[in-house]
Amino acid sequence: MDQHVIELEKLTKVYGDYTAVDQLSLMIRRGEIFGLLGPNGAGKSTTILMMMGLTEPTSGTVRVCGYDSTRNPLSVKQRVGYLPDDVGFYEELSGLENLLYTARLNKMSREMAVERATALLRRVGLEEASGKKAGTYSRGMRQRLGLADVLIKQPEVIILDEPTLGIDPEGVREFLQLIQELSRDEQITVLLSSHHLHQVQQICDRVGLFVGGRLLAVGTVSQLSQQLFAEEPFLIELHVQPGSTALYKKLLELPEVSRIERVDANRWRLSCTANIAPALTQLIVSSGEQLHSLTEKQYGLDEIYHRYFAGRDSDVRKMA
Ligand code: ADP
Ligand code: MG
Repeated sequence: MDQHVIELEKLTKVYGDYTAVDQLSLMIRRGEIFGLLGPNGAGKSTTILMMMGLTEPTSGTVRVCGYDSTRNPLSVKQRVGYLPDDVGFYEELSGLENLLYTARLNKMSREMAVERATALLRRVGLEEASGKKAGTYSRGMRQRLGLADVLIKQPEVIILDEPTLGIDPEGVREFLQLIQELSRDEQITVLLSSHHLHQVQQICDRVGLFVGGRLLAVGTVSQLSQQLFAEEPFLIELHVQPGSTALYKKLLELPEVSRIERVDANRWRLSCTANIAPALTQLIVSSGEQLHSLTEKQYGLDEIYHRYFAGRDSDVRKMA
């Protein structure tokens, strides 16, 4: 079997004269957790709809589990669990009854359905709420029920559209951990879309940065950093006292320091072309200032995102 579970080739969707997805090519490997990251309107949901065969591409191809989603949507739906961004349940039915209903649609025997639904409800932490009406569930509980619902047919792939939207931070952490465990334990390939950087960074093996219908970069977070911050790969955060202007100027004059961002009066973030931590320590101490801390940070998605989204549209286009 092909190691690539999701294959997009020059996938394009045009609405009228607006291109929502522009020549998107992307391969996702079996067992991978992939984050499609981009702001609202980037084209994430449109891409997912094309993967599920729910909307037709204008051009290009999309294959999921080896099947062309446009020509063979049923084969794709049999193998893929899809959690839309506005998941709907039968509000009058309990969590358990909702899962049993899905199981019946998937032609599962009653016995097997009860067994699997019960196990899944336990797995997603809804054991105690399983008898309560879905209509009474909180947003976080609905998302967990949604996850159980997409898992009931034992899919090879799950596709989750903004699954953490509207969940409180603690709930988000637990929910993402759950996705990660499920992916690991059951060898499920996961594609999730999000406009929350930190969340995606937590659990994804790779991410794709998607803006204005175009994919700007793909890779692990550190690969993205290397691609996007090739010229100044080292980020060093200093906590200095008193943090004089004289010191600030001295630091800025160092050839390896390209920029300094003031987090606050005493906390400065230096973008450097080399790791000059030892030299910085010496310089600060010999200037008579106190160095409370020096932290070497890696560029994370947040820096990437800010850099790429803050008024750099022309650069963004060039990179794509
Ligand atoms: P995301 O999920 O990343 O927020 P979407 O895929 O929902 O982005 O939308 C991408 C762009 O395509 C948006 O500008 C949206 O307004 C537009 N769009 C989405 N669906 C339709 C549609 N059915 N008709 C016209 N325009 C659409
Ligand atoms: Mg969307």
